[in-house]
Amino acid sequence: MGIRYTKLTIRLFCLLLILLVMPDCRRAKDSIDVTRVVKTKTGIEMVVIPAGFFDMGSSKGAADELPVHKVWVDSFWMDRFEVVQEQFKKYQISDPSHFKSPDRPLEQMNWTDAAIYCNERSLAEGLDPCYDEQTWKCSFEGNGYRLPTEAEWEYACRAGTSAKYSFGSDARKLKANGWFAGNSSGKTQPVGRKKPNLWGLYDMHGNVAEWCNDFYSENYYEKSPQRNPKGPAAGEERVLRGGAWNSTADALRSSSRASDPSIDDTCLASDAIGFRCVRNAPNNKPAEENSMEENKPHNPSKTGLVYHDIYLEHKTTPDHPESPQRLVAILDRLKQNGLYPKLLILTPSPATVEWIETVHSPEYIKRAENSCQKGTRFLDSLDTPISPKSYDAALMAVGGVFSAIDAVMQEKVTNAFCAVRPPGHHAIEDEAMGFCMFNNVAIGARYLQKQYGLSKILIVDWDVHHGNGTQAEFYDDPNVLYFSTHQYPFYPRTGAETEKGGGKGQGYNINVPLPAGSTDADYLQAFKEKLEPAALTFSPDFVLISAGFDAHENDLLGGMKVTTQGFAQLTAIVKTIAQKCCQGRLVSVLEGGYHLEGLADSVEAHIQELMR
Ligand SMILES: [Zn+2]
Repeated sequence: MGIRYTKLTIRLFCLLLILLVMPDCRRAKDSIDVTRVVKTKTGIEMVVIPAGFFDMGSSKGAADELPVHKVWVDSFWMDRFEVVQEQFKKYQISDPSHFKSPDRPLEQMNWTDAAIYCNERSLAEGLDPCYDEQTWKCSFEGNGYRLPTEAEWEYACRAGTSAKYSFGSDARKLKANGWFAGNSSGKTQPVGRKKPNLWGLYDMHGNVAEWCNDFYSENYYEKSPQRNPKGPAAGEERVLRGGAWNSTADALRSSSRASDPSIDDTCLASDAIGFRCVRNAPNNKPAEENSMEENKPHNPSKTGLVYHDIYLEHKTTPDHPESPQRLVAILDRLKQNGLYPKLLILTPSPATVEWIETVHSPEYIKRAENSCQKGTRFLDSLDTPISPKSYDAALMAVGGVFSAIDAVMQEKVTNAFCAVRPPGHHAIEDEAMGFCMFNNVAIGARYLQKQYGLSKILIVDWDVHHGNGTQAEFYDDPNVLYFSTHQYPFYPRTGAETEKGGGKGQGYNINVPLPAGSTDADYLQAFKEKLEPAALTFSPDFVLISAGFDAHENDLLGGMKVTTQGFAQLTAIVKTIAQKCCQGRLVSVLEGGYHLEGLADSVEAHIQELMR
């Protein structure tokens, strides 16, 4: 009876807990949309497009879409809708549109009239006009409105996707996502009636083709710079993107390019040509006064810190080295030494099960949840002690990595440290191992790929133990370079130098096994001679660190002699790689480290180096 009552109580409690965290879960799921909408002074809705890399062009498209090349685009704002006729009238420019209606897009727009509208709108909002109305040269440094570059347009249209269209490759779905010859009834349609893309932009496919700022050149991609390409310096024709109400499905593809129809054969009648505006994200220029309400000026802290009290609720066994006290020691230190107020504190939401499933099997996730609910003391083996709230803590640990990644990708911080528990790098697809439940870093890498469309991730693992779970997840994957230094032979017995990756992933798994007693010099040599050249050749889009501090000279579990200063030096090397390859984008995630003072010392030195 007593036992049944207890079980019932636990179940009710868990149900209550689930109900309590549900709004957060929903929020986490919704946050797949990373963008937000702002309203400008004149009441126009714009989407804040996060900075990022994407693959521009298509290997399956026309010749002018080749070669597919990686492009970086700074953050910018883009009109949520094509510019409609109602907006144009405000500026006493005569409306050339053929299909008249206030909520339909402008068409029969020539490029210079679109540029004039951008200037008028800038002036009306107290911004600097971008276009010189004599030469039509665009000032990209200014804060005013302009036409998007071709790269900005395609990046925004794709919204993190790489298929033919922003909704996938099935052209039959176009009917729900845009207006084209197949469904438009031979005219433009009011904007915003079809499904928006993942970033909330409407009518990127169809309705009217949209002017870009770039001059058109068929072979421009061969010489396009990687950062913020702006098209050829001169030319005859300007680029049109997105297809229109009279286009075939093929012309509506995300990568499809067209140019001035009076000169070539794109079949775009002039009443099928409109535009939308962009402007540089004001956050790119912190000095700028910005009166727009939703865009409160912020003072970006360079380094973020992820922490949540639920991480302390993951209880192991008495006297277990992987104890809540580890995080208490870290937080106490950061508060005592004055670093805490200088960090941007990031409060996470729990990751959804869908995200955990990018690395772990549904059966294992369910087993972990049930084991915690039932009050089981260990998950899978004596290796991993758990408590009733361990599952929630583990979801929040992954969510913590996500919040750090989000903050970096949205340029709130350059890098971040996640003080999370339970650790992750031993957890494999269907089994808990070595104090780890979910593989925080591995799921973080999947999140970067799926959520932000980044393809190449570097994971540096300097925990004293080999990250067998992370190695297993990416062993065949050439897009994730896994580098590990670890004591060897040692738990978990994997991590030989000969484990170099399989299949296409051959060469993208680098193990540097080190004997017990290795020092700062040994680690630095491995980082300089093995990590640095491989990482610079690989050129990652983002760097993750599995930051275990159990190679510290005082650590209870490891047999290494790395000093606090040694960890600072390793940090500096990895940080430099991130600076050289991906604008410094780096998220570091706590793994092991069991000597409370050694851990606090090392994390302090690590964070200080990240902030430098
Ligand atoms: Zn470890």
